[in-house]
Amino acid sequence: MKYIDLHCDTLTELKEGETLVRNHKNVDLKSLKKGGCVIQCASIFIPTGTYTGVDRKEAIQTEYDRVVSVYKRELNANPKELYRVLTRRDIPDIRQNDKMQDLGTGILLTIEDGGVMGGEMQKLYRAYEDGVRLVTLTWNHENEIGYPNSTDRDIMQKGLKPFGFEVLEEMNRLGMVIDVSHLSDGGFLNVAEFAKKTGMPFVASHSNARAITAHPRNLPDMYIRKLSEAGGVMGLNFASHFLSDTQPPDGESRICDMVTHILHIRKIAGSEVLAIGSDFDGVESRMEIDSPAKMVMLYETLHQTGLSEDELEKIFYKNAQRVLTAVLR
Ligand SMILES: [Zn+2]
Repeated sequence: MKYIDLHCDTLTELKEGETLVRNHKNVDLKSLKKGGCVIQCASIFIPTGTYTGVDRKEAIQTEYDRVVSVYKRELNANPKELYRVLTRRDIPDIRQNDKMQDLGTGILLTIEDGGVMGGEMQKLYRAYEDGVRLVTLTWNHENEIGYPNSTDRDIMQKGLKPFGFEVLEEMNRLGMVIDVSHLSDGGFLNVAEFAKKTGMPFVASHSNARAITAHPRNLPDMYIRKLSEAGGVMGLNFASHFLSDTQPPDGESRICDMVTHILHIRKIAGSEVLAIGSDFDGVESRMEIDSPAKMVMLYETLHQTGLSEDELEKIFYKNAQRVLTAVLR
């Protein structure tokens, strides 16, 4: 079994003295290898809306630089286990001739919260130079690009701001993946419209189905169909509050709830739209699958539920591969 994971926060969450070899997090080198992780998207997670004060811009920049240096440090320290995913040629299976070579896990660097740019396009170009290939446009606060998911209907219906539309154009030009997880419904519709125009897919890197769990972070069926029509994917998020309304007392993230979401999404939009977006090291609840090494538990449960190996290969790997190959240059 192999898989692509569209979202984790591990690089950001590594504390002083911790590395991808040794840490107390969900993700480390050994578990990535054991679980068969071919590509791990890893975020520079900076919730820019929580930064206040006169020096917020500098503080955001300092945190950005810190996580980029963690990325560079880990990639340089583990050349056999990790490699950078920068172009479509870095996506396995495209390298057909290298089939016997163990490439290790490709790390695709992402930004979670496009507010990191602070409304300056130069910072998108800088991020591209640093290796970033996917940007989650917002987190849970308004930024220069647009508005977040919200229980407030007015906010939820707001679309992208002018800078947000410029960011879409530039990301499309550079070959970067546009991510609508955390975004308002209005913003989602703008991105879907844009994707129709360009013919390029987009993603919801770590979002589930709102029809199953009524959380604004999850996507309504109509939006999932739009995502599917654009050739995009949504990564199944393992956080318990996006998986279940009726939480067990300890709020555990459970495989049975993941299966419910997957079966629903498959029923309403087909299995081509499904992917994995674990949110490892961004989830605070207890997790049945708390490590890449345990990803096989989800695979086996879905197999027992009746999904074919072909379909599972799509969900775990091929759908995400299709999107990354289409977008990256
Ligand atoms: Zn997130």
